[in-house]
Amino acid sequence: MIIIIGNLVPDLVSIFMRVKGITIFPFIFLRPTATEININHEKIHIRQQLELLVVLFYVLYFLDYVIGIIKYRNTRLAYKSITWEKEAYSKQDNMEYLKTRKWYSFLKYIK
Ligand SMILES: [Zn+2]
Repeated sequence: MIIIIGNLVPDLVSIFMRVKGITIFPFIFLRPTATEININHEKIHIRQQLELLVVLFYVLYFLDYVIGIIKYRNTRLAYKSITWEKEAYSKQDNMEYLKTRKWYSFLKYIK
């Protein structure tokens, strides 16, 4: 895992919604203003991406997002309803989470 601090990549993916960071395995791109919580959030995504062999993660994540847009007609709500975001947001404050997290824990967040 390689953490890269800077606004360039977060700005590139902030066309629809401003993001603090993005994880594209094995890289975590974070704004200089990122907090420990933001870093923990992206580290959770690294683990999720590994579990789905990276490519499958992106396919399912995008599908989940599209389903959310159809369902809610709102990009923010759609984003917050993505299975992998629900796990990351609910556990990002717990700095010990990744030490005890079981494999495929995101399954609990499938709606
Ligand atoms: Zn996220």
